Amino acid sequence: MADSAEGTCELCGRRHVRLTEHHLTPKEEGGTFLPTAMLCIPCHKQIHALYTNWELAARLAGIEELRHDPKLARFVKWIRKQPPEKLVKTKKAKERKKR
Ligand SMILES: [Zn+2]
Ligand SMILES: [Zn+2]
Repeated sequence: MADSAEGTCELCGRRHVRLTEHHLTPKEEGGTFLPTAMLCIPCHKQIHALYTNWELAARLAGIEELRHDPKLARFVKWIRKQPPEKLVKTKKAKERKKR
């Protein structure tokens, strides 16, 4: 699993972000050998928060389809303005809390 790759998110287009692999057709819906997209963590989380696996397989099994869905488009517009470092900052804040 290519879980800690760094690069450009295919959805929001932010560069130098940590990428996770998203199955455009969820594995649960038979997408194991179908195309995947590399997404940053916030985008990936948002997709699964907004849609069920069934919805993804039925009408959002492509990066263009995802990008054009109004709910996700609004999120992408916002996340594009967020610097990738924001993630790192969150992590550090958590670490500090422990001490
Ligand atoms: Zn993204
Ligand atoms: Zn996913």
